[in-house]
Amino acid sequence: MTGGFVYSEKPIRIERGEGVHLYDGDGTEYLDFGASYGVAAVGHCHPEVVSAVQSQVERLTFVQASYPNAARDGLYDKLAAVAPGDLDDVWLCNSGTEANEAALKFARSATGDSKIVAARDGFHGRTMGSLAATWKPKYRTPFEPLAGGVEFVPYGDEAALAEAVDDETAAVLLEPIQGEGGVNPAPEGYLQAAREAADDTGAALIFDEIQTGLGRTGALWACEKRGVTPDVLTSAKGLGGGLPVAATLCADWVAEDAGPHGSTFSGGPVVSAAAEATLSVLADEDLPANAAEVGEHLQSKLRGPELPIRTVRGEGLLVGVEVGRGANAVLKRLAMNHGVLALPAGRSVVRLLPPLTVEQSHADEVIDALGAALAEVSA
Ligand SMILES: *Cc1c(COP(=O)(O)O)cnc(C)c1O
Repeated sequence: MTGGFVYSEKPIRIERGEGVHLYDGDGTEYLDFGASYGVAAVGHCHPEVVSAVQSQVERLTFVQASYPNAARDGLYDKLAAVAPGDLDDVWLCNSGTEANEAALKFARSATGDSKIVAARDGFHGRTMGSLAATWKPKYRTPFEPLAGGVEFVPYGDEAALAEAVDDETAAVLLEPIQGEGGVNPAPEGYLQAAREAADDTGAALIFDEIQTGLGRTGALWACEKRGVTPDVLTSAKGLGGGLPVAATLCADWVAEDAGPHGSTFSGGPVVSAAAEATLSVLADEDLPANAAEVGEHLQSKLRGPELPIRTVRGEGLLVGVEVGRGANAVLKRLAMNHGVLALPAGRSVVRLLPPLTVEQSHADEVIDALGAALAEVSA
């Protein structure tokens, strides 16, 4: 194959997906415990999403966002209805990084300030603005200079956060649980402290729930479990049931001066129909509750005595497993020898981020596969 050059290819070609499974051209089955970067939150090719997309693509594939349209309006309403607090001003775009770019721009225009406070080990995307708020040098260094004005604080340190957030701060940008950075849940009280620091200085509090949102942690939004409502919340990954769509949900005061922002593809009818169907599936199938239940089962088995695992972190179906050696070696064996696909989160963490439709039996399969893969790596 020629043409692609960014991704190192894996020696598995996937040609079909159904629910929690992916299949290669020979029909070999893989259990997708990474949900393809969390995108397949309601499973692959969910019939309700497929049917919503099929009927919309025939009726109207695209119309620009300045012409109101039933599919887009339907998604606006649905997102406003499920948003935490009063974050009912919805901006639609195509990817997580764009949702964060918008959040940062809106925060700057609403506050008239420019400084952004973000966390070490945080991940917010790879475009110039979101990348500037992303910690890891590996992602940043080759592309510098990035957008300016970002100050990093150690994640979980309330005092450092209170000290960094000042009257020149436009935004505090945090993940309620750091995903890519190793699956680090915010310590008790940290998000509340961020809320207070933002309130004291007039900064906008932005929660990046691109990985933690849409039921993954056992509640629709991770911030709800902690009783903290931000001024802006970003959502992407699983939102479109496999199609590229993302949302920036804002309180009125943040959305007020957002007019000069825009995007050609904002809320196209097909992706809007897909996202509306996805949100319906999440509610109809009670998937946040399933994530809580199966997540609990999975985590208690991971913590059990059978597996030589150092630490397990996470909530619901966002789980990081410290394997104490190269995560990639374990992931490779999981995929090639046991038909289980998962993700890394840094060098030594295997990240389990399955579709929220998984059952306990799938979790058990992964436990067995992980035990075997760990033994193979040690052998
Ligand atoms: C994946 C992710 C992003 C970036 O989303 P893209 O769609 O890849 O741009 C941003 N923030 C978090 C927390 C993510 O997990």
